[in-house]
Amino acid sequence: MSKTTDTNKSLYGLSPQEIASLIPHAKAFRGQQIFDWVQKGIESFDQMVNIPKNLKDVLEFEGWGLFSSSILEEQIDEDGTAKLAIRLHDGKVLECVLLTDDKGRKTACISSQVGCAMGCTFCRTGTMGLIRNLKTAEIVEQFHLLQNRFGNISHIVYMGMGEPLANFKAVQASIEILHNPRGVNMGLRKITISTCGIADGIRKLAVEGPHVKLAISLVASDNELRSSVMPINNAYPLEELKSAVKDYQEQTGRRVTFEYVLLGGVNDSRRDANRLSDYIRHMNAIVNIIPWNPGAELDFKAPSGEDVRKFTEYLTQNGVLVTRRYRRGRGVNGACGQLATKNK
Ligand code: SF4
Repeated sequence: MSKTTDTNKSLYGLSPQEIASLIPHAKAFRGQQIFDWVQKGIESFDQMVNIPKNLKDVLEFEGWGLFSSSILEEQIDEDGTAKLAIRLHDGKVLECVLLTDDKGRKTACISSQVGCAMGCTFCRTGTMGLIRNLKTAEIVEQFHLLQNRFGNISHIVYMGMGEPLANFKAVQASIEILHNPRGVNMGLRKITISTCGIADGIRKLAVEGPHVKLAISLVASDNELRSSVMPINNAYPLEELKSAVKDYQEQTGRRVTFEYVLLGGVNDSRRDANRLSDYIRHMNAIVNIIPWNPGAELDFKAPSGEDVRKFTEYLTQNGVLVTRRYRRGRGVNGACGQLATKNK
């Protein structure tokens, strides 16, 4: 890709109304028309063939442009998982991932921050600390960079680097753009926000929307263990988290997913399974078991296949709905909890 535009001047981060406000003397429908073009993933104003040249000139003259980020590196795992390192306009680097399932459906796993402040001890991104929040345009652009490179994407998960609810406004605006029926038109049921459990953010999302699917990274169902691996639990202990999730469900009627990263010898006993079953009892919920993916600097052990099988069985015996995340992307460090970049 050629030269990138300034992050604050990328049309990828704007709604049709915001684009229209940049060209107040043009006919009202032009904002929508330009938005439609941008959200096709275009890289040049020349591709907007039905937009008058003088309007494109005005936008260009005022510094508006298309992509503010570009692909720095691409890695593809044997299982088809693709990971892109993306260079932002200020030189910072993030990662995002494209997962392809057995039916060929493609899911974009996108980042909301460079690094993360939440400090979950099993996650490589957590070791980076927070470098900065992403702008709306930088989030939307990840989707288009992945789609332009690998073809139609059917689902989006905010599960890459960062805690999406800690960058609420930009994430919210990016979903509104990607959900817009005239643009990408991604259904809200096909978008998932994965959070480490910021209860206030969950409540805010319940009130303000958009009502996407919610996944909670749980990892432990007793406060002591959870606080030791996920510091956020000190601010929002399990009881408060559960109450926020219930509020979200009341507003949206959606089933929630509890992500359970299985750490060998830490949270994989029968007792842990029973506690987890008790925690989600009477909730419309499903548990997604994610066997921990090793990260070089992290001091945990991946569970064995037998440990995973047994833990799944305990939950099933307790009547819990369970899915298992297969270890996609490990060959390129693109699996869950493995994203990390070197940023100065
Ligand atoms: S698991 Fe998520 S919230 Fe926790 S440190 Fe990693 S990126 Fe941040």
